[in-house]
Amino acid sequence: MEAKILDGSAVAKEIRAELAQRVEKLKSERGITPRLSVILVGTDPASVTYTKMKKKASEAIGMLSDLIELPEDSTQEQVKDVIRGLNEDPTVHGILVQHPVPKHLDELDILATVAVEKDVDGISALSLGRLVLGNADFVSCTPLGIITLMERYGIEIKGKEAVVVGRSIILGKPAALALLERNATVTICHSRTQNLPEVVRRADILVAAIGKAEFIKGDWIKMGAVVIDAGYNRVEGTKTDVGDVEFNEAVKRASYITPVPGGVGPMTIAMLLAQTVKAANKYGR
Ligand code: NAP
Repeated sequence: MEAKILDGSAVAKEIRAELAQRVEKLKSERGITPRLSVILVGTDPASVTYTKMKKKASEAIGMLSDLIELPEDSTQEQVKDVIRGLNEDPTVHGILVQHPVPKHLDELDILATVAVEKDVDGISALSLGRLVLGNADFVSCTPLGIITLMERYGIEIKGKEAVVVGRSIILGKPAALALLERNATVTICHSRTQNLPEVVRRADILVAAIGKAEFIKGDWIKMGAVVIDAGYNRVEGTKTDVGDVEFNEAVKRASYITPVPGGVGPMTIAMLLAQTVKAANKYGR
């Protein structure tokens, strides 16, 4: 039997509709309009597209959103000054620094400047530390999207053997921590992992976060596993995007699987909006 599709586009749409209602309520009952400020340093084409998408999605649910474009040659202090200004501005509830920043800048130091109660992207050292402690306000948006998608489909995480392939700060590590927090037994794999197929074969829940087209083969998937494919890879010489998992084979063995596109991707922006609304509700005045 073929796996059920975890339809991230549909769930994200549902979430955005729920958020639009919450925004309306925040405005009418407390006079607060959730506001997200996105900082883009430089002109990386993919980042320009992503930041525009974030602004558009924010406005579509009735939030305010600013896109602050800083020149490629901005200094560390110039970027941090902009963040400090936003930290102090009571009308701003969420701050996101678009990743990656130009190479001459220290990204971790920049992220550390974002006030923790406005860190709606959840990837500053303080937010990640809180995730380790189990009391994070905000979690990196893609891992949160993964967890939310599973929860919306009623997939049990507790007690399951979860394997996360990839250990980046924005995806693999926080995804593993979020699964651990929900009482999965978690294994984290990376480029130095030995016998990866054998480890993946143990997974009741597999999160692929590698960035290599169809790297995980269908026959590595345990029968009945839940397969979450966060990968997003352009097939060379085409306009087709594929995930990190060989979907056509994995779909025959998994119980649930995310498509690429339309799985994890749409959930990421929905979570950014959700966390900005949460920040406005919790800390807004
Ligand atoms: P990244 O920072 O490049 O991390 C990739 C991870 O994969 C690293 O931990 C790396 O291990 C591991 N890896 C590389 N080769 C491997 C191998 N042969 N075997 C096992 N592990 C291997 O990438 P990322 O930012 O986490 O992104 C991963 C993918 O998710 C990309 O396709 C990206 O486009 C996608 N993504 C999607 C969204 C979304 O919204 N849907 C958001 C963010 C990212 P080492 O640590 O040992 O190098």
